Amino acid sequence: MIAGKHCTRGCRFCSVETHKAPDLPDVNEPQRLADAVERMGLTHVVITVVNRDDLPDGGASHFKNCIEAVHVRLPKTTIELLSSDLDGNWQALKMLLDQLPVAVFAHNVECVSRLDAQVRDPRASFGKSLDVLRRAKEQRPDLMTKSSLMVGLGETDEEVIVAMNEFCQAGVDILTIGQYLAPGRPGSRYLPVDRFVRPEQFQEWADRAHRMGFLAVASGPLVRSSYRAGMLLAEASAAARHDQQYQPAPL
Ligand code: SF4
Repeated sequence: MIAGKHCTRGCRFCSVETHKAPDLPDVNEPQRLADAVERMGLTHVVITVVNRDDLPDGGASHFKNCIEAVHVRLPKTTIELLSSDLDGNWQALKMLLDQLPVAVFAHNVECVSRLDAQVRDPRASFGKSLDVLRRAKEQRPDLMTKSSLMVGLGETDEEVIVAMNEFCQAGVDILTIGQYLAPGRPGSRYLPVDRFVRPEQFQEWADRAHRMGFLAVASGPLVRSSYRAGMLLAEASAAARHDQQYQPAPL
């Protein structure tokens, strides 16, 4: 996680501490990040960020510097950026994505649209997040786009399908669905778990998502947004190659 340990937002499922005005991003972070990835010998790295509503570009230039430093040091390591919504600053998003050396651009919608107000910070919404994903795909069709949903927050099974349909229309390639687990004690600022979804239901969503055309899907109680991220990228890339090679038989 880059751009500081404090987030300017306060989502009710997240254990990252909220600060209105966190410290400025560390100018040495890009090189320190590259050092860390190199030392760990990673072949695929997920770089996530905190929201930086305090910065004019939402932190986009810092995110980009970090990613470029990793890529220059380790050109063979594939990079996945799990981005913030940049508060809908489309100019900043465009700048970020321009020649960004990543294989996957991820941004999480977190919950179904009806639950935005209870679950996410008031500055975040399903619609805004979907717009981030749609714009990313339009600008960089060469990248895989990815998003994640948590369940057990009060959604219905049907609402998950509706959300999956909306992802499809926004061109999202990779989907993960996992069980929400409250990080704090009951009564704390974290939302309580509404239900524990059965493994068969997760499987049903996975099957449905494959039929809808997602290139790779992870759906299960223990799935998190970066769950087996490198394997999901490999699966999505193989599926995309297969799609390109597929020639329908003449009628
Ligand atoms: S924006 Fe992201 S990091 Fe910040 S509180 Fe919400 S989920 Fe946590």
